[in-house]
Amino acid sequence: MPMYQDKAIKDEIMEKMILKNRYAFFNNNLTAVLSPEQFNFLRKVQRFCLRYQKKNNIQHSMDEDIYKWIPDFGAEGYVTRSHQMDELDIHYEEHGAVAEMMRVFACDQFDTQFTMAMGATILAINPIKVHHEGIPERLDALRDLITGKACGAILITEPERGSDAVHQLTVTEPQEDGSLIVNGEKIYNTNAPKAKWVVGYGSAVANEGNKMTQYLVNTSWDGWKSERVFIPWTPKIWIGHNYFTNLRVPPEYVLGGVGKGREHMFEGLVPERLGIAIGNVAQAWTALSHAFLYINMRKQFGQEILKFQGVGFTFVDMWARTTNLTLGLLKFCEEYDKKMEKFGGEIPRNISQAMIASASHFKLEAARLTERTCYEMANLMGGAGVCDNTLMWDLVGISRIQEVVGGTRQIQQYILSMATHQLWKMI
Ligand SMILES: Cc1cc2nc3c(=O)[nH]c(=O)nc-3n(C[C@H](O)[C@H](O)[C@H](O)COP(=O)(O)OP(=O)(O)OC[C@H]3O[C@@H](n4cnc5c(N)ncnc54)[C@H](O)[C@@H]3O)c2cc1C
Repeated sequence: MPMYQDKAIKDEIMEKMILKNRYAFFNNNLTAVLSPEQFNFLRKVQRFCLRYQKKNNIQHSMDEDIYKWIPDFGAEGYVTRSHQMDELDIHYEEHGAVAEMMRVFACDQFDTQFTMAMGATILAINPIKVHHEGIPERLDALRDLITGKACGAILITEPERGSDAVHQLTVTEPQEDGSLIVNGEKIYNTNAPKAKWVVGYGSAVANEGNKMTQYLVNTSWDGWKSERVFIPWTPKIWIGHNYFTNLRVPPEYVLGGVGKGREHMFEGLVPERLGIAIGNVAQAWTALSHAFLYINMRKQFGQEILKFQGVGFTFVDMWARTTNLTLGLLKFCEEYDKKMEKFGGEIPRNISQAMIASASHFKLEAARLTERTCYEMANLMGGAGVCDNTLMWDLVGISRIQEVVGGTRQIQQYILSMATHQLWKMI
């Protein structure tokens, strides 16, 4: 299967834009700031991606199934490295926010849509990790997801409840035996049609935020139906429109009973937004790496296009912005890891509250960065940037949805406006 429908870029240039060289550009940017441990883990995941791509002859063509690769990455512990998984007897030497950042940087250069799909599984992993309470059924689901044996999804958004996520219309009716009966509709849930495990939200009474619940569902249960919503900007990722019809969630799978759902949803938002910001910065680097190689080789008017200010200066502007945001995120992740260690894996509420604003700062800025950087880097590559010969078309597409997912740009601004007022009250 060819990588593209027609070869638009000449071999000499294509041969240089390979994953190995893109990693080399990226690594040269970070060697000075990463610790040896951080850099070694980054290299380890990169080596795995290089070998995996070669061994499986992965071409990143339009018709490739990215979901097929997840079990192999999971077997290496590369679905996520945010957590240590002692409860499953899985012990990752490298784990935490920084390790996760390194994993995402390596995986995104390999395949950006694949990396986003794994990211949605992480959104299901996070709440189970925090709320499994040692219950075997929950631990089984966690093991499936962390090892890549199964795919996961998070179900917050509904057709009539997007940004206003606390007023859920999905009804989760509590039963005497502790189970929930779920009826409702969810939409735009990444991975849902492919998922074995989904974490959903609802409310005992429609529209009542203080009666919200959180529950885990095995999609083989009666009462679950999932249809694909096709998002043309991310054609390889399966997004779901899902229906619950009298679906019974047994008590072992109720992660947050009536009244607990809202709190559980908010506690997941800091890691979710941080994860999206890391993914966004990684996308910017993947785009920069392609353009860096291309503009150093492509000639017009008898010289490399990098030498024209319109090209070179556009490149360096986005390069500087991406570098700065990377350093900011790295510092934040290092501090996050230190606090997790200091407080035994659970950051006190007052500190985690303070992190809400930082997570929104990063999400807001990183989504904007990837949108601009991917577009500008494709633009610098001319026709070569917009045809299907490289991963640039994936990047232009995926970067266009980042201001919508995980809370829109306007919602981040709204959160930050409220935080500004809170800070004022503290003066
Ligand atoms: C590719 C993709 C993947 C997704 N994955 C998931 C997933 O895995 N799980 C999940 O649950 N959801 C997912 N979503 C849903 C996503 O979180 C929502 O689309 C998003 O929260 C916005 O909701 P909405 O689409 O209903 O838009 P609306 O909430 O209807 O917003 C429409 C517009 O109004 C603005 N707006 C709304 N309220 C305000 C306000 N108070 N102040 C200012 N502006 C406002 C918004 O910013 C936006 O511009 C995904 C969406 C996409 C596109």
